Amino acid sequence: MSLTDDLYRETILDHYHNPRNHGAIEDSAATVVEGVNPLCGDELTLYLSVKDDTIEDVKLTAKGCSINTASGSMMSELLLGKTVAEANTIVELFKKMMLDKKEEVILPDELEDLEALRGVKKYPVRIKCALLPWNTMIEGLESALKGAAKDNAQTQV
Ligand code: ZN
Repeated sequence: MSLTDDLYRETILDHYHNPRNHGAIEDSAATVVEGVNPLCGDELTLYLSVKDDTIEDVKLTAKGCSINTASGSMMSELLLGKTVAEANTIVELFKKMMLDKKEEVILPDELEDLEALRGVKKYPVRIKCALLPWNTMIEGLESALKGAAKDNAQTQV
């Protein structure tokens, strides 16, 4: 095993043992979305607080494997404070990296932590473990935006 593989493994284990933004957002206005990956048994709950088109807070509780938990932890760190458009771009880029079989997707320096998950592509069954938090985030952002649209409609009345 190469030095780089060791570093990647260490990054994944670090996020697995100390997941960032772990827990719940205690605010009834927060968006709550659940994600399940039956193939592996991963389950997670994503809490999202979007204000003025920006991700103000994101929290996760995950009962999953190391890949799932680490991927969610990295995602929460990278997306916190981002605008919805920026978050969607990052989500799409990560999904492309994990799913694209031909071209090697190049990540910007800002996202270099995610390189640790690139090796998961060698194990097709585990790709879903890595993608679950991100797919749940897409759903969360959509429903947060719908909620915001509803609020706007109400203020206009
Ligand atoms: Zn898993």
